[in-house]
Amino acid sequence: MSAELDFGRYARPELGRLFQALNLDVAYRRGRGDHLTPEPATDAEAADQVLDLVGGAGSSLFGHNHPALVAVARQCLDEQLPFNAQASIRPGAAALAAKLSTLVRATTGVDYVVTLGSTGAEAVEAAVKHAVVERRRRLGALREELDRSLRRLHRDGLADTACATGPAAGRHCGEVITEAIEKVTEALAAEPVLVSLRNAFHGKTTAAGTLTHGSNVPEDLHVPGPKRVRLTDWTPEAVVAALDDRLVEICTVTVDADAVPHSAARHLSPVAACFVEPVQGEAGVREVPTETLAALRALADRHDTVLVFDEIQCGMGRTGTFLASEPSGVVADYYLLSKSLGGGLAKISAMMVAADRYVADFGRHHTSTFAEDDFSALIATAALDLYESHRDRIAVVGAELRDQLVKVAERWPEAIAEVRGRGLLLGVEFRVPQPESALLRAVFDAESLGFLIAGRLLHAHRVRVMPTLSAPTTVRVQPSALIDTADIERAAAAFDDVAGLIAKGDYATLLAHLAVPPTGAWRPRQHVPAPPRRRRVEHDGDVPRVVFLANLDNASTVRSLAPELAEWSDGRCAAALDRMRGELSPFEVVRHRIASETGRVADLSVVAVPFTAAQAVDAMRAGQRPWLSQTVLDAVELGVELGGDVVGLGGYTSIVTGAGRDVVEHEIRITSGNSLTAACAYDLLQRHLASSGSGTRRVGLVGGIGNIGAVMADLVAPHCESLVLVGRPGSGRRLATVAKRVAHLTDVSVAEDLEALRDCPIVVSATNAADPVILPTHLSADREVLVCDLAVPGDAHPAVAGLPNVTLVSGGRIRLPGGQTPHFPGITLPPGVVYSCLAETILLGLEPEMASPSYGGLSVAGVLSALELARRHGFHPTRITTADVSTNPWVAS
Ligand code: PMP
Repeated sequence: MSAELDFGRYARPELGRLFQALNLDVAYRRGRGDHLTPEPATDAEAADQVLDLVGGAGSSLFGHNHPALVAVARQCLDEQLPFNAQASIRPGAAALAAKLSTLVRATTGVDYVVTLGSTGAEAVEAAVKHAVVERRRRLGALREELDRSLRRLHRDGLADTACATGPAAGRHCGEVITEAIEKVTEALAAEPVLVSLRNAFHGKTTAAGTLTHGSNVPEDLHVPGPKRVRLTDWTPEAVVAALDDRLVEICTVTVDADAVPHSAARHLSPVAACFVEPVQGEAGVREVPTETLAALRALADRHDTVLVFDEIQCGMGRTGTFLASEPSGVVADYYLLSKSLGGGLAKISAMMVAADRYVADFGRHHTSTFAEDDFSALIATAALDLYESHRDRIAVVGAELRDQLVKVAERWPEAIAEVRGRGLLLGVEFRVPQPESALLRAVFDAESLGFLIAGRLLHAHRVRVMPTLSAPTTVRVQPSALIDTADIERAAAAFDDVAGLIAKGDYATLLAHLAVPPTGAWRPRQHVPAPPRRRRVEHDGDVPRVVFLANLDNASTVRSLAPELAEWSDGRCAAALDRMRGELSPFEVVRHRIASETGRVADLSVVAVPFTAAQAVDAMRAGQRPWLSQTVLDAVELGVELGGDVVGLGGYTSIVTGAGRDVVEHEIRITSGNSLTAACAYDLLQRHLASSGSGTRRVGLVGGIGNIGAVMADLVAPHCESLVLVGRPGSGRRLATVAKRVAHLTDVSVAEDLEALRDCPIVVSATNAADPVILPTHLSADREVLVCDLAVPGDAHPAVAGLPNVTLVSGGRIRLPGGQTPHFPGITLPPGVVYSCLAETILLGLEPEMASPSYGGLSVAGVLSALELARRHGFHPTRITTADVSTNPWVAS
């Protein structure tokens, strides 16, 4: 079902990536009524129809390509009606404006002047402009009136006469008016203020965006423009009085027939307009209570400003009445319409201003190339006719659909919080599930829930939904007035399934659509610079907190971290991980308190960094290391937020950050943990070498240019008879540098072929490869061989463990003091044993004064100090053969 076109490359790459991650990267080829045909269409096209409940985000009140509207469009083209006839009389636009005015007058009793545009946000922009101009004109008129009044007082010799009554009684009336003129001049110079409600959505252009709830507008978008005040408290008293402190009192003066001046109070306000959606669509379909609408009316009157009803989504019949505000009885000064007005075929919007408020020259100042085209206006006029013929049906089918959804909600109260809305503007609010596993809790956050539900409904039921924009746990249900009972039942059955899965916690089925290999190319997301807001959580008294980061080892790790997905095969886990690559944020998996033999304790948090070893290797090959490194930096940030005094970089999190060098911190310590990993291997090898007879102390070291491998050469060289540094073809020159450094300690050579291991009774391996590099054929077949594999994922092929003459030891393991056996999901080490890199992280927590020995390159001194540190706290290096470890699915050393 996925579109083959590489949509995301040139058009909105961030959405292309997100839709691919969620398996929502679908293209539609045909739309009719409430049905869409996906691309590529199957043979059984009729059966392939997707039931579209998104309804063009509320625009398709008459479905896709309604025949009556298509006929109008076709007629326009057949008759060669000019699309472009700017600066001429546009009969279609004029007729539409007249019809709209009549329709709204039927409710409000007022005539309107209509400004047409192309989009909803454009109508909002037009309203902002009109309201700002209207306010300034009103203030300008007041200043003129006051000027005249002052001149009259001077002319009549009354300027120094005291006002007889009113708030300025006793003051010279000339002085009172002069002061009023100054205040009006200040008000004219002040920035106008726009009022909108909590969670409002009024579009995303710059002025409309200032009215819209925050999450829809990027934090770093700062453009000059009108100031806005957002009302969070909707109680009538709070709304009416919300901006009282902005009111400025002035006094005006009138002179009676006996030439006696009287003063009267009047208020100036910076408020230019109060915007409200009578039903907030994008905020999760929330009805604004009638008393709040009435209070907004009162607020606007108190500030002598305009009330704007943004009915772009809820108006034009969608709720069953032409205006959604109709039942409230509250009348606004401006009405905005769009979406369904275009009948799902044309892009059109209307800004309607009460005729007595219309600013005479507004139409000259507010123009747009594509506004008022007859093509769109004729379609909109036909859409208004359709509304009139479908008015009753909207309420009936809307109620039928709502009833069905309410029944589903009653059946699954654990999954559905509420069904809201009226007519065909409905929303189903889901509860954010709380799965057992941290991995699934990270997947099911409030932002993604609606999209995950959309994926399930699309792939299992061929029902298309989307979350509302500022309340993504609410799924919008906005079908057309044509929807029939069969489709209503189909929609209800689909919701019933998804709600049932959520309620039963059947996440393996709910997310099955994600476990399908993605088809498109993948590109890493662009980094968005984050504001410096590190909030460290307070942790328990003096107990230090350490945070250990670990990437996912391989696809099956998914099952270890999310037992809910136990039924998923490795292949499905891998597909899901590939699909979700780059979309999950690092998350905390588990916490444990670990005690030292000295009695000190440290709290350990383990944070999963959501890429696998293979994905890391792929990304490095593809030149995408900055993405990997950034993902680790995000995890470090989480570590800091969690209150970490030390952050340990496990496995690839260290490799992709250049052994931690990319992680720049000064208040916390960063460790790759590699010193203790090297120390544990050194401890083991040193004993082994000490007990080996002469002629058997030849060591093959694989990965000698790596972070651990390089220091292993320094450590082992003094104890062996000869050392061969083995690397990939082409690595000889860099290996030779290492060889030169240890040449005074032992007989050292360099090889670019693993065959060189054949005469080594001891093999040490520490590469960064994602796949095994040491095969049975590389090892001696006729003598005892010790293979110490420090790499995770392991360097030794699983078949090596089965060789009778080979002892395969997983290096870098250490025993916690006192038999402590904390459980780490997915780690199957013997009881009481942990990875050395993790142990080093804990040990640094236990010793707050000690600098990290494992930041960037390692040194022999650092390794020995790590060994000493471990011994001091009763952590003992341990020798674990592969026989002791069934799998090693997650934490890496
Ligand atoms: N106002 C409201 C109430 C809306 O719902 C929307 C669109 N969701 C807009 C304004 C903006 O309309 P457009 O997307 O056409 O700019």
